[in-house]
Amino acid sequence: NLSTKNRMKELAELDKKHYLHPTTPVKAHFEQGPPIIVSEGKGIYIKDVNGEEYIDGMSMLWNVNLGHGQKELAQAAQEQMSKLAYSSSFFGNSHERAIELAEKLATLTPGDLNVVFYTSGGSESNDSAFKLARYYWKVKGEPNRTKIIGLERAYHGTTLGATSATGMTEFQNFVNAKAPDFFHAKAHQTNCELGDKSDPNYEGCIRDIVEKEGPETIAAVVLEPVQGAGGVFFPPEGYLQAVRKLCDEFGILMITDEVITGFGRTGKMFGVNNWDVVPDLMTVAKGITSGYSQLGAVIMKEKIRDELVKSDDVLFHGFTYSGHPTACAVALKNLEIIERDNIVANAKNMEAVLKEGLKYLEEKHKTVTKTRALGLLAAFELYEDPESGKRFDPSFLAAHKLVDECFDRKLILRTAEWDGDNIIAIAPALIVNKQEVENIISIIDDSLTAFE
Ligand code: PLP
Repeated sequence: NLSTKNRMKELAELDKKHYLHPTTPVKAHFEQGPPIIVSEGKGIYIKDVNGEEYIDGMSMLWNVNLGHGQKELAQAAQEQMSKLAYSSSFFGNSHERAIELAEKLATLTPGDLNVVFYTSGGSESNDSAFKLARYYWKVKGEPNRTKIIGLERAYHGTTLGATSATGMTEFQNFVNAKAPDFFHAKAHQTNCELGDKSDPNYEGCIRDIVEKEGPETIAAVVLEPVQGAGGVFFPPEGYLQAVRKLCDEFGILMITDEVITGFGRTGKMFGVNNWDVVPDLMTVAKGITSGYSQLGAVIMKEKIRDELVKSDDVLFHGFTYSGHPTACAVALKNLEIIERDNIVANAKNMEAVLKEGLKYLEEKHKTVTKTRALGLLAAFELYEDPESGKRFDPSFLAAHKLVDECFDRKLILRTAEWDGDNIIAIAPALIVNKQEVENIISIIDDSLTAFE
């Protein structure tokens, strides 16, 4: 009706006037305004301020893992807020929920990843992991181990350290935001990580960088078990195990960024569980609260903490909202629901439905190729001619066009267009059911027909 339409217009104008958006083309946004103004959500569905319903095919930013409208999470927040506004974790102070959550995380994570450092999100978690890794080496008497090796196409966030480790170079080039001592290795070059120097890809792989820089200068290797924003890339079999071995060989710390893959997204509780690898430090955020509250964490092996406690120094790092009581209470309830309702098993079961749907799309539509899914982390690619490997001209913005077609049909997906790739990511909430996955596939099917 007229009043909601006017409200939408009014909000769009105010947005353009007063609101600078993250990771958004500034000029285009200033001219066009927001594509959607979201008002409410339930399950995998969201509504805009006009009351139009959309399927949230990405769990927003791969984080609303229990879906929208989970009253139990709202209740947990409300109860905690009513009881205690905030409590600092600085100067050794503690509070109940932070302690309970740290213990819970220790039980969920693999191996002896039993010690938790809290942050308010993924970028802060990665910056914290890098600084903690450097501090570990300093206390251990190897202060020259300062270098961090990340992977090409990795995404680790946008604070300075996280940006520096990020391998999607536009994030660094934007304002020359790359700190010294960060390196990028080729992703997924399995053979060379296994130590095969005859591999033509050897140059620029992790091992090559370690050898060139000198292992005694490397603090840590950081990688996502599955690369998310860079294009949903799964490691080839043996890759993560090979990186683990390489780190052990040179005494380098292995950091896995589970900000997307943590808490069930890949059909296991953590991404590394798919390959039975235990990192030295793991960073988490997003799914820890299903996006209902802002929380992140670095979860480290006891051996890291056992080294740190040898020093009398103050750990000069932390955030006011490290382990906010409300966020911790929401996380505890979120983890309780994930276990109680077998959410991780649902993600694994829905992987099969999603894969079947993607196979159908690949067979029916000549432009669709490289379909893939692990749990509810999935993608497909568009090529002008997959058989000959001919890509669309980058100026054609193929992936964007298809995502726009989906949006017109009330399905929200997202693109990864990088280096000539046209990748479309799919990552619905982990509570999605068979019918809903089939609806998502059906909308993509119609959108592809319109696109072609
Ligand atoms: N690491 C990964 C793998 C991510 O996908 C993201 C965000 O998308 C981040 C880190 C950064 O997290 P945040 O945006 O909460 O700082």
